[in-house]
Amino acid sequence: MENIELKRFWENVKEELIGVLPESVHPWLYSLEVSGYDNGVLTVVTGQAMARDWLKKNHIDQMNSILNKISDNKNSRFNIIYDEATAKKIKKQTDKIIKKEALIQQKEMAMENLSYMQSSSNLNLKYKFENFIVGDNNKFAHDAALSVAQKPAGKYNPLFIYGGSGLGKTHLMQAIGHYTIFNNPKLKVKYVKTDDYINDFISNSRKTNNSVENMSKFYKKYTNIDIILIDDIQFIESKEKSMQRMQHTFDTLYNKGKQIVITCDRQPKELPSLSKALCSRFEMGLMVELLPPELSTRFEILSKLADDNDINCEKEALMYIAKHYSDNVRELEGAFTKVCAYAEINKVDFSLELAKKILKCPECDDYISFDKIASVTANYYNVTLNDLKSSARAQKISVARHAAIYVTRELTNASFTSIAEYYGKKHTTILFAYDKVKKELNTDKDLVSTIREIKQALKVI
Ligand code: ADP
Ligand code: MG
Repeated sequence: MENIELKRFWENVKEELIGVLPESVHPWLYSLEVSGYDNGVLTVVTGQAMARDWLKKNHIDQMNSILNKISDNKNSRFNIIYDEATAKKIKKQTDKIIKKEALIQQKEMAMENLSYMQSSSNLNLKYKFENFIVGDNNKFAHDAALSVAQKPAGKYNPLFIYGGSGLGKTHLMQAIGHYTIFNNPKLKVKYVKTDDYINDFISNSRKTNNSVENMSKFYKKYTNIDIILIDDIQFIESKEKSMQRMQHTFDTLYNKGKQIVITCDRQPKELPSLSKALCSRFEMGLMVELLPPELSTRFEILSKLADDNDINCEKEALMYIAKHYSDNVRELEGAFTKVCAYAEINKVDFSLELAKKILKCPECDDYISFDKIASVTANYYNVTLNDLKSSARAQKISVARHAAIYVTRELTNASFTSIAEYYGKKHTTILFAYDKVKKELNTDKDLVSTIREIKQALKVI
């Protein structure tokens, strides 16, 4: 028998002996160390002469019959030896083996736990800090997220990450989850999309008729955790009951000293139908903004993507993509994937020429058309070009500015960043203006004809 097998075999026998023999002899049994098992003879060594004498005199038959039963060998028997030095030596070895086994087991359990946690907490394996490229646009947000991951419920609680679509909010938020699961596996992490939270709440309220004890199941699910990651909170806007429930969840976690991380496509105060109670809670920690990445960061993101996927591509091709996809990293990656798929299927190189052919990005000088659009719109509203670029908030000027921003985006497909630069505004302001006009066009007929007239004046329709 191998050493380790022998130890296991002896552990089994010992367990059985302890179950059968009187408690008074258990200390003698514990003093026994196994040293060999040959030809049916199980040799055990003790450092106490009394143990050998007592067991031999009073219990040897019972011990042998238990050994027979476990070993399946009717002729097996015990050989109990008294030898202090050997007993000590074996005990030392056994302790070592036990320690080693426990360590292996612990490691296995940790790995199992890790993969279980990662899958059960719905985290995307790609969304880790290691895969997040840091640039000026996201450094502050990245550092805050890392700090939260390293020390949950410390200085930054809640952490509120906001910014336009495809700028890495979900990625950064989930990176906190991965980091915690890996480095601090005892902490429970829950990632939840706001939509799922709302649906879960509604279906629970329906099923349970809002009964207190059943709602408490829902309550526990979202509060019996150490770190909650709530993605895209903007979807809770206007949903009164869900907002109340979220407030509850927030307060419970916060008061228990748990970390809350929230993402949103804009700042809380820019969500007009968000309850005041939630808005003030979201604002009480740290709010960080993700901005569109600069050209060099976009290029780095693409280079990493190519490296990670072992794809050989021309630098100029990556630069071309990086130049033309500036607002949204998801779209940037999408453009890369499109060219990549074409190159792979047709077995051609990932070249600048191919990227141009597939993506067909407009090569226009945005600034000329920006000027033209701005002056035509200013003219239409009877304001000046300077008014549009100023920070004046008079209604007439801001309505004109919103329209100009909307038309610029629609006609040039220029990035929100470059439009923001042109008007001297923040990226989120431009996004907000564009969204607002787009929404209003569904209901406001006057606005529809205004935009149409501006486009006609620009001779594009
Ligand atoms: P959001 O939640 O803001 O809409 P995501 O987190 O889903 O955006 O990001 C969209 C895609 O862009 C993801 O594939 C993400 O990995 C990638 N991405 C965004 N920012 C970065 C970055 N700084 N470095 C690497 N990948 C990024
Ligand atoms: Mg997201």
